Amino acid sequence: MENCIFCKIIRGEIPSPRLYEDGDMIIIRDIEPKAKLHYLCIPKTHFALLSEMDGEKAEILKRCFAKIPTLEKELGLEKGYRVIINQGEDGGQAVHHLHIHLLGGEKLKDF
Ligand code: AMP
Ligand code: ZN
Repeated sequence: MENCIFCKIIRGEIPSPRLYEDGDMIIIRDIEPKAKLHYLCIPKTHFALLSEMDGEKAEILKRCFAKIPTLEKELGLEKGYRVIINQGEDGGQAVHHLHIHLLGGEKLKDF
């Protein structure tokens, strides 16, 4: 998507160091961390909402969720972390390219 900030990062038009990358996803640091460690796992395929999911996108998300736990140690998340996907207006989704927040590096507050 032309004007999507995460597509721009994926295309390399906005610099953002990649902590992990493969054919399906990138993992970067969130620019405004809401916890001591705050990462974003961003699928390379542009779609905004879980409701847009089809078989192919489900496979991509499956691979994202399979990859994340293999990187826990490398990312400093071995003591645990919170996984969040904000959806739509009420969910506070600011970037309309689906992404998985990984928050950790400290004991997170209940919500
Ligand atoms: P959401 O509210 O779930 O759409 O989250 C969007 C997240 O993207 C926010 O936590 C922002 O801080 C983060 N963000 C926005 N622009 C960038 C960027 N250029 N690099 C890294 N993270 C970003
Ligand atoms: Zn996008």
